[in-house]
Amino acid sequence: MTTFKEYLSALVYIFFPDVCLACGGVIEQGEKTICSICKFSFPRTNFHLDNENALAQKFWGRTKVEHAIAYLFFKKAADVQSMLHYLKYKDSPEVGILIGNWYGQELLENDFHKNFDVIIPVPLHPKKLRKRGYNQSACFGEGLAEVWKIPHLEHGLEKVTNTSSQTKKSRQERYENMKAGFLVPNPEEIKDKNILIVDDVVTTGATLEACINLLLEKGAKTVSIAAIAITQI
Ligand SMILES: [Zn+2]
Repeated sequence: MTTFKEYLSALVYIFFPDVCLACGGVIEQGEKTICSICKFSFPRTNFHLDNENALAQKFWGRTKVEHAIAYLFFKKAADVQSMLHYLKYKDSPEVGILIGNWYGQELLENDFHKNFDVIIPVPLHPKKLRKRGYNQSACFGEGLAEVWKIPHLEHGLEKVTNTSSQTKKSRQERYENMKAGFLVPNPEEIKDKNILIVDDVVTTGATLEACINLLLEKGAKTVSIAAIAITQI
């Protein structure tokens, strides 16, 4: 028997259907946030199958990264770009959690999750965090941690200075600044751990490089990275 409440929600759905935050199409009842057509057609990198993939190569000669993986290619797909725009700028933290769940599930198949003890997101500056209300990388980390049942240390790394106005500095100067801009508040939490740093979109990798080096200096056993998407190869 259809209850009045069910009848009402079906009626609301007719006039205000949920739309997919990637393709903008109407999503089926029972689906959430992203439609299943997008889910299956997103351009996967499959970087976890190749330890010498294009993302890992970005860090060669720069730092020691154990595994470097990204779920999707950013540039090839307008849908991926739209979805990440919602995550970052349109108050949609659920996108990050959902993508983390999906990627986490896919990586379970190869036991890839067994490489990591804890997940730590690239931190946002506190000012930015207050403005946005959430850290989009932490949403992704939360989604992975849910599936893998390992700890997610949301504040394992902290950002302490704003490094936004350094466009005129050299690459080395920018890097030194960046490194100085992060802090490990509780080094005992990360000591001898295999850490996975999570980020939303990787471009140059400079932020990640700084985070990796800092965690290694503070006693991490290995450091790996996982991003939702990679922009350039
Ligand atoms: Zn869609």
